[in-house]
Amino acid sequence: MKNDIVTLTIDDIGTNGEGIGKVDGYTLFVKDAVVGDIVKAKIIKEKKNYGYGKLLAIIKESKNRVVPKCAVAKQCGGCQIQQMNYQSQLQYKQNLVKANLEKIGGLKNIEVLPVIGMDTPYYYRNKAQYPVGIDKEGKIVIGFYAGRTHCIIDSTDCKIGSPINQTILENIRKYITEQKISIYDEESHQGILRHILIRNGYHTGEIMVCLVINGTTLPCSEKLVQDLIGISGMTSIMLNINRDKTNVILGKECKTLWGQAYITDSICDITYEISPLSFFQINPVQTEKLYKKVLEFAQLTGKETVWDLYCGIGTISLLMATNAKKVYGVEVVSEAIEDARNNAKRNNFNNVEFFVGKAEVIVPQFYEEVSKKAMDDNKNKEAIQSLNPDVVVVDPPRKGCEDILLDVIVKMSPQRIVYVSCDCATLARDLKYLVSKGYEVKKVQPVDQFCHTVHIETVILLSKFQSKKQQSNQLYIQ
Ligand code: SAH
Repeated sequence: MKNDIVTLTIDDIGTNGEGIGKVDGYTLFVKDAVVGDIVKAKIIKEKKNYGYGKLLAIIKESKNRVVPKCAVAKQCGGCQIQQMNYQSQLQYKQNLVKANLEKIGGLKNIEVLPVIGMDTPYYYRNKAQYPVGIDKEGKIVIGFYAGRTHCIIDSTDCKIGSPINQTILENIRKYITEQKISIYDEESHQGILRHILIRNGYHTGEIMVCLVINGTTLPCSEKLVQDLIGISGMTSIMLNINRDKTNVILGKECKTLWGQAYITDSICDITYEISPLSFFQINPVQTEKLYKKVLEFAQLTGKETVWDLYCGIGTISLLMATNAKKVYGVEVVSEAIEDARNNAKRNNFNNVEFFVGKAEVIVPQFYEEVSKKAMDDNKNKEAIQSLNPDVVVVDPPRKGCEDILLDVIVKMSPQRIVYVSCDCATLARDLKYLVSKGYEVKKVQPVDQFCHTVHIETVILLSKFQSKKQQSNQLYIQ
């Protein structure tokens, strides 16, 4: 019952990284407890079949427990499992992918390869977004939201972000105090400064600082610029205008205060321009490993036609284009496609084409229109090939792909589908669908892009079942 103090052994882990144990058959979720711990917990929330406990004391420590490197690991909502040693984090993630593929995906006896981890799983993020606020004592706080709240934990020393961020943030804190910059208040929708976005180029050392403001100008910004340009690597200082009453961090409009409107970085020797609004993989070390798997699974020889759906700034598209005949990329954020086109130009690719829009709208539309064209003009080889790709890559956000998109992919009937997923539950749902439509899961390779958090990236290779090769609705090249 609520407020009872109980002792229990933690024997499982929940989807948010919390420990799970049983007290007389009653399931209790205990945040910050690790599998193998024996803990004392106070019941803080009681439901019919399960409850939530607050960790009071660890009676016996699990052999997998470690002291988190970060001083605010417990309060901060960013890392959920820093108290687990890294090896058991990887094991947990491998088990989670397998469990979801079995339970949600209905895939039996599937081999999930060991998670590709990091040698040093710290200071890996190349992007961080810090909310700015005022605490009860009127002090400026810059840091991270506590789990499931909008309470800001003051911390500029994040152990998974770039170490230089602390210097940048402390400079900004000084500027806020000296210039009496007003801080945004979510309740009243008053005040100017909302968030600070920092991007770091891993290979280039370039830095972008972007201040998100509820207004169109930042008072005395030249003072801030003076402070920041002394930091080695500073390349871009931007403003992002967000005047909406929303918890979406970035608005649509950006202004350059100093330097370029983008930074550059490279992945697998291809250089990219990255602007504040563009998606760019956040763990550069692991991204190279992830993309190499995507390339390996695509099995390109130079002759292939490839679609890269949810292409962002075209990172996977260009990598594919190094060894394919033609690559088509689709992405909903128009700024990202602008970056993608610049990236193609700057790296001298002329075998890629990008489309702006939702994949579930663009691809079915393209299929319909180009099918008609191909029917009328049977010699239009490029049109026919675009409808019959060898490989389709999808890399959707957490909600996965819509059925309407999966349907048209099935109609295009690629020999291979490479699915890159950041949520193994929606991945499992989509795989179930693709398997029911004639595809077979060949390889499942998780890659740890988000060390110390419960998130896991997975690359999947699907191949067309041989027997379904001659689907009636396909257009074949003569
Ligand atoms: N493949 C890229 C980006 C993956 S993240 C990379 O590795 O960097 C997912 C991308 O999908 C984001 O860029 C996001 O803007 C985009 N996106 C989200 N919903 C979409 C949709 N319905 N159609 C197309 N792109 C979408």
